[in-house]
Amino acid sequence: MSEQIRETDKKLKEMAERLRLVMLRDNMAELMNLATEERLSPRELLLFLFRKEIEQREANRIKLSTMGAHFPRACTLEGFDLAAQPALEPGLFRELGKLEWLETAENVVLIGPPGVGKTHLAIGFGKKAIELGHGVRFFSAVNLLATLRKAQQDGTLVAKINQLQKFKLLIIDELGYLPFSAEDAALIFQLVSKRYESRSIIITSNRPPSEWGLVFGDPTAATAILDRLLHHCTAVVIQGDSYRLRDNLRGLGKTEM
Ligand code: ADP
Ligand code: MG
Repeated sequence: MSEQIRETDKKLKEMAERLRLVMLRDNMAELMNLATEERLSPRELLLFLFRKEIEQREANRIKLSTMGAHFPRACTLEGFDLAAQPALEPGLFRELGKLEWLETAENVVLIGPPGVGKTHLAIGFGKKAIELGHGVRFFSAVNLLATLRKAQQDGTLVAKINQLQKFKLLIIDELGYLPFSAEDAALIFQLVSKRYESRSIIITSNRPPSEWGLVFGDPTAATAILDRLLHHCTAVVIQGDSYRLRDNLRGLGKTEM
């Protein structure tokens, strides 16, 4: 490589740095070699470089958003075995998987006994939402309440609820496993009211919404919460056996369930 080319590459690198074209900065030599080998025209070269830069940026965004979502584990919609879950209608699964309901700030409630894939689906929808460019935040119901209680004690409840508005999708996992106090219900009410018709929520629960009054401790608050939550909502009831258990039993040779 001639001295002149080396100099030019150095300058290009500095300029890429200033323009925050990280991909170009870190792979200047390889990209240039590739362009030479492939005999790219100026237009093709620009197209190639821009595409690479965008791809890298997109991958970074997805990585950061996924970290910020605090999913308890990695699950995808593609990894959901529909055949193993006959209670979930494939048409509904595909429809929800398009996430058009996020645009209209509608909610999704996933109801069913333990192990049927509620959390898997919630994370899968969350992951897809991130891929589509949306912000997502996952909470277990217990963690969400702890967060809201703490914010209330600190006098920052409104700020906290507003901060959660930046997430197009809020996932509340395992609502109803533990009972709430009337104060907890009031916190959830404020959150749900704020998001009503502006931001989506996914809730997973082992109980149908009709029983949430018992969970919330305060029937009036429960009614007010349900009123907003269910107004624009798809409720998916997933019955059947635990996927985990099914696999275990299969391991034991008991395939027929
Ligand atoms: P739930 O939240 O309803 O208790 P999970 O989503 O935690 O159930 O599912 C339990 C385990 O079984 C998880 O590892 C999940 O990935 C897996 N699982 C459940 N249903 C399916 C399915 N239909 N296809 C693939 N994996 C599934
Ligand atoms: Mg779960």
